[in-house]
Amino acid sequence: MSGSPSVDAVVVGAGFSGLYQLYRFRELGLSTRVLEAGSGVGGTWWWNRYPGARCDVESYAYSYSFSKDLEQDWTWSEKYPTQPEIQRYAQHVAERFDLLRDITFDTRVESAVWSDERHRWTVTTDAGETVDCRYLVFATGCLSISKGPEVPGVENFRGPTYHTAHWPEGGVDFTGKRIAVIGTGSSGIQSIPIMAAQASDTVVFQRTACFSMPAGNRPLTEDEVVEQKASYTTFRQAQRESGFGVPIALPTKSALEVSDEERAERYEAAWAEGNLVAVLASYTDTLTNRDANDTASEFVRSKIRETVKDPEVAELLSPRSFPYGTKRPCLDTGYYETFNKDNVRLVDIRRTPIVEITRDGVRTSDAEYAVDAIVFATGFDAMTGALARVDIRGRAGARLAEKWNEGPRAYLGVAVSGFPNMFTITGPGSPSVMSNMMVSIEQHVDWVTDCVRWTREQGALAIEASEAAQDDWVRHVEEVANGTLFPTADSWYMGSNVPGKPRVFMAYLAGVGVYRQHCDDVARQGYTGFTTALPTPAS
Ligand code: FAD
Ligand code: NAP
Repeated sequence: MSGSPSVDAVVVGAGFSGLYQLYRFRELGLSTRVLEAGSGVGGTWWWNRYPGARCDVESYAYSYSFSKDLEQDWTWSEKYPTQPEIQRYAQHVAERFDLLRDITFDTRVESAVWSDERHRWTVTTDAGETVDCRYLVFATGCLSISKGPEVPGVENFRGPTYHTAHWPEGGVDFTGKRIAVIGTGSSGIQSIPIMAAQASDTVVFQRTACFSMPAGNRPLTEDEVVEQKASYTTFRQAQRESGFGVPIALPTKSALEVSDEERAERYEAAWAEGNLVAVLASYTDTLTNRDANDTASEFVRSKIRETVKDPEVAELLSPRSFPYGTKRPCLDTGYYETFNKDNVRLVDIRRTPIVEITRDGVRTSDAEYAVDAIVFATGFDAMTGALARVDIRGRAGARLAEKWNEGPRAYLGVAVSGFPNMFTITGPGSPSVMSNMMVSIEQHVDWVTDCVRWTREQGALAIEASEAAQDDWVRHVEEVANGTLFPTADSWYMGSNVPGKPRVFMAYLAGVGVYRQHCDDVARQGYTGFTTALPTPAS
């Protein structure tokens, strides 16, 4: 478009995906502009500043591997890093690799339109600026569009309301306040113990109980840090070949072929590890066989009963409606113990739904709870939410939102038929949220960079996934999911948390190692499943 600034590539988002994509595109010699809605780098870790926010993948595993110097120079302080520490890390990376000069903050991309004639994208921002580019990468995050509680009356409440996903920068002091918290997923589970320690009265509104286990977080010792830094090379390789991006000893037995005593011992050991996947990975069939899964589910419920003194509250906190692991499990610090406090109440909003937010608080079908502040820990329009909010128009003006009306369709979860030169980092159809995201982010960014390099080497103006390859991949992703218990749960992985969203399992479950192999094979064979557009005299 004449008059628009023109670059080789636009990257949308300056979280870990966008930062690394900028770094790799620069290496390739592409002029690149990053557009970011927030005012700083870090994405998830810039926005989610709620009390207790921290990663539940160990710090040295949840970090970039692309720079050996960075690995050696940066020292993590805790087993599970806090949001401020991760955000500092993102800022350090941005400064260390001189990335900030190509990032425009406080700028939301509103539309992206492909020109069939020019083989270029025109990206428009909420500031009214248009940027013209050859390649467009959505590094917009899987959990970057928050959702509310879908109840009327929020505007009538006379006190402040907060959402965990966009917490005020200076923090909030709830000392002496009566608070309501709606939502008991990972964000609620991490923040409730801290907020309840301050507040005079805490009412937790629970729609679905979650499975959580103690994180066992602690400062890292100097010896551990030395040991971790010394083992990065082998550790990274193991991460890349693993299932979840976290190397663990693979199970060899079914949960149903061992004695009750052996199983109990195994689960106890896994529980003591304070590791998100330890219980899940105790047996081969936890995620594929309901009876096997029941043994793990019941083990976690027994732990809840051991911890929570009031048996009725313990039962209410015990998940019954879905198999263990099919909604994302949580790691917590004192979550269940919090419900032993006299000033913490749990309200089952399946039995007594929230009817409205009133001037004074939260009204359910049987009572009104007067509070001074309300916290929404109600999660995200996950995986597709950020893409759906951009008006993306591909070949012949086709709209991505319409193409994905019945659920997302993408080839390898990284490219979409009809949308040339457009890539999604950790998009639907890739392992994405079913993995340690740092491993998946680096793998996707590396793959996209190689794909762009190859396209340019071919002298092509555009590369695009074919419909047939995309159909095959979508079928494969679905088949793998259907071989597991995941589709039986109403989870955000399935889109079930957002009213009206199509119910489709959105991630690829065969593991990051298997997925990497697929992607590498496609590249090695000359980008099978993709077509390229060569220049014509008119181009
Ligand atoms: P994000 O960090 O989400 O960044 C995307 C950026 O794109 C955002 O800054 C957003 O503002 C921007 N953006 C979106 N749309 C637009 C637009 N239209 N225009 C301009 N900018 C836009 N993963 C793990 O592996 N382990 C964990 O323990 C873990 N913990 C998490 C804890 C929380 C509270 C949350 C919410 C997520 C967690 N995740 C975890 C997932 C986490 O999102 C990823 O690990 C990772 O940070 C994603 O990085 P990203 O750059 O792909 O996306
Ligand atoms: P979430 O897991 O989707 O939890 C949202 C909670 O709010 C659920 O309890 C949900 O109930 C409830 N809820 C949603 N809409 C509601 C409504 N209309 N009325 C009443 N209750 C409602 O969201 P999250 O806790 O923010 O976590 C999202 C993901 O981010 C996690 O799964 C994880 O991947 C990541 N995360 C990780 C960490 C970490 O420890 N590293 C921390 C935070 C987030 P239902 O279950 O019934 O929908």
